[in-house]
Amino acid sequence: MPPPDLFAQPAERAAQLRADLARYDHAYYVLDAPLVPDADYDALFQELQRLEEEHPELRTADSPTQRVGGSPLPAFAPVRHAVPMLSIQTETDTTLQGAVAFDLRVRNKLGLGPDDPPVTYAAELKFDGLAISLRYERGVLVQAATRGDGETGEDVTQNVRTIRSVPLQLRGNPPEVLEIRGEALMKRADFERYNARQREHGLPTLVNPRNGAAGSIRQLDPRVAAQRPLAFYAYGWGEIVGWSDQPDTHHAMLDAFEAFGLPVAPQRVHGAGPQTLIDFHARIAAERDSLPFDIDGVVYKVDSLALQRELGFRNREPVWAVAHKYPAQERSTRVLAIDIQV
Ligand code: NAD
Repeated sequence: MPPPDLFAQPAERAAQLRADLARYDHAYYVLDAPLVPDADYDALFQELQRLEEEHPELRTADSPTQRVGGSPLPAFAPVRHAVPMLSIQTETDTTLQGAVAFDLRVRNKLGLGPDDPPVTYAAELKFDGLAISLRYERGVLVQAATRGDGETGEDVTQNVRTIRSVPLQLRGNPPEVLEIRGEALMKRADFERYNARQREHGLPTLVNPRNGAAGSIRQLDPRVAAQRPLAFYAYGWGEIVGWSDQPDTHHAMLDAFEAFGLPVAPQRVHGAGPQTLIDFHARIAAERDSLPFDIDGVVYKVDSLALQRELGFRNREPVWAVAHKYPAQERSTRVLAIDIQV
């Protein structure tokens, strides 16, 4: 009998995971119709990541761990992003210690020892909607695009123009080119109102606010999109040209966006060391149910843009940011998964 091929099992498992995740990605990103709960998807994704780390030879260029999102729909004009729209690493430790683990990774990468001063972080909400890039030229909104596969998105300008809180013209003295990255989402009250009206008329209802937002933005008829009220919150940026006094921290960038008239969620903090992140995580856990929209967790970012540049990117994710989900969220999704299977 030939000796057992020690890599046969991981290779088969990796191929299976890649095939399953590719199917789930297509359903989620392209069709806006997820096949499995997020927690199940995350567990499979992390299993594949672990397998690829233990067996780097199993990592393929088309692996879901190496790419962002899904292919853009051909019904929309393609938009090539000047600066790619990436994903965010999810912290695997969902307890408060997740913030400490992130801080340790950052300090190690920066070569900081225990006697060096703490790193300053920004913390904000992880909005559960659809990533959008808004391009302003000389302060005027000229284009809105989805993330797509991160390199190429879909031109959804007409639909995004129906979001009332997205300014068509920025205030103050914005740079010559400013690409704002943020999330389009449906508030819970608007979701309930929309579904109640649909039910009254015997029409199909939306599955959840995230799918409501994604389906509305990637809607071929802007009149339909206009009937589904969406909100937008800025959390980042892409290409910037001609901003002589550009701020040098993440939190000051968001303050500047707010001054330009862009919506930025008030739930955000910045401060030294992981304690700032732990406190924010605990505060948002308590406030979560009273927020007007769904969140997917919180996001921690290194505040200094110089340090962000030093830390850079790994695959499809910035090294200077991490998403931290709440354990209860994962549990409730699991219960839902069990309900579905029964
Ligand atoms: P992600 O949601 O994990 O992280 C990146 C995205 O976070 C960005 O594109 C941005 O849109 C968003 N974001 C929200 N708030 C932000 C903030 N404050 N700062 C920066 N970004 C912020 O993105 P992803 O790569 O699409 O990750 C996949 C996630 O989507 C998984 O966690 C999974 O649960 C879910 N998913 C589910 C299925 C499914 O079948 N259920 C399939 C694919 C993906």
